[in-house]
Amino acid sequence: MAKNKDKVQEITPMSEDFAQWYTDVILKTEMVDYAPVKGFMVIRPYGYAIWENIQSAYDKRFKETGHKNVYFPLLIPESLLQKEAEHVEGFAPEVAWVTHGGHERLAERLCVRPTSETIICSMYSKWLKSWRDLPYLYNQWCSVVRWEKSTRPFLRTSEFLWQEGHTLHETYDEAQAETLQMLDIYREVAEEHMAMPMIVGQKSESEKFAGAFATYTMEALMHDGKALQSGTSHNLGQHFTKAFDITFTGRNGELEHPFHTSWGVSTRLIGGLIMVHGDDNGLVLPPKIAPTQVVVIPIAQHKEGVLDKAYEIKKQLEEEFRVEIDASDEYSPGWKFNQWEMKGVPIRLEIGPRDIEKNQVVVARRDNGEKTTLSMDNLNKSIEELLEDIQQSLYNKALKMRQEKTFVAKNMEEFKEIIHDTPGFIKAMWCGDETCEAKIKEETKATIRCIPFAQEDLGTDECICCGKKSDDMVYFARAY
Ligand SMILES: [Zn+2]
Repeated sequence: MAKNKDKVQEITPMSEDFAQWYTDVILKTEMVDYAPVKGFMVIRPYGYAIWENIQSAYDKRFKETGHKNVYFPLLIPESLLQKEAEHVEGFAPEVAWVTHGGHERLAERLCVRPTSETIICSMYSKWLKSWRDLPYLYNQWCSVVRWEKSTRPFLRTSEFLWQEGHTLHETYDEAQAETLQMLDIYREVAEEHMAMPMIVGQKSESEKFAGAFATYTMEALMHDGKALQSGTSHNLGQHFTKAFDITFTGRNGELEHPFHTSWGVSTRLIGGLIMVHGDDNGLVLPPKIAPTQVVVIPIAQHKEGVLDKAYEIKKQLEEEFRVEIDASDEYSPGWKFNQWEMKGVPIRLEIGPRDIEKNQVVVARRDNGEKTTLSMDNLNKSIEELLEDIQQSLYNKALKMRQEKTFVAKNMEEFKEIIHDTPGFIKAMWCGDETCEAKIKEETKATIRCIPFAQEDLGTDECICCGKKSDDMVYFARAY
């Protein structure tokens, strides 16, 4: 039994060491493990089930907005990568190369895709003929490799799972509308399914995607006051379509280059989910994303009728929810409570002989620890309402946390004080000059997360760094 007892292990408190808390949570809940190759991760069943729920929520919205899934190869010839100068420069430092096929050296090096613009564009140039073929609305679910020097599971790994949408349009306006539509879908699913409030806006020139005309982003704030870039959508203009000679015959009979977008979210979102909702007892999962929404734990299960009733309730709930029962006789109920709490399951149901007598179940909420009883009559309806309430409460709690960690700075002195004492988002005015941006980054390690669509009047129009008149309020933060 001693060995079993160890299984519910203590998690380092967040306040003591946030990074260690994160590592404890992801390893002890068996979401992920370190792979034999440094910087790579193994996603275990519990982590992968979370990814599948995120994936299906996004995939549904992509399809509802007319996108189709495709698959392009993992390997890209070096000559293709070289075609767009800014792009290759941006990705070169982190590209992994294949140089041999079996024992033979290849005539041309092949890169393991860090992203697929180049290979997709090379195929689009072959396929596209007429304006009637447009728009191209394609998406692929795959993994990409970016050889990173310092890695953390989910947040930054040398290989990660993601989706990449790649679309072509007849006009600039259509491409811009697509770019913003996809950002909005990213935000909507993150907020409604993952209960993660997002700040949406545009990236500064220095933070935009290599080769993009404009990059838009959604940014979330973690418990430790650091920001997480959680999804980006790029208006690529005609950079790639010109470099790859993608043309179509326009309405007037002339050859034209289409306008291009790309957009992606990745397993990074799981890291965000953990760091927005988690607590000292482990994961806290929003019901819509949780692999298990309800766990049923029989109490005094050796007593007559208890297990039968517990299974009966499980069966009844399974018609609508993702349900598990923990009826192993190896562990005490207390051990099981801790275990499922650590795994972040939104609702725990306890059923013992006295509950059966009273036609009730005991219900414990993971988000706030509240314990109540519910009648077994109309239990599905009660659970449905409870799950909805938990989903909303988690969003509200995360929003409140973000608001409490969002500050305004009117000068550098204030800025440095906030970054040092109370890390979080800092709203400040910025003149648009890259020199100011770089100086702030060097002195404080804070970067411009975005120029938000929702601009606010901070009562000053002076750049936080140089004092020049500024039009833009921006969000700064230290970021993952
Ligand atoms: Zn300035």
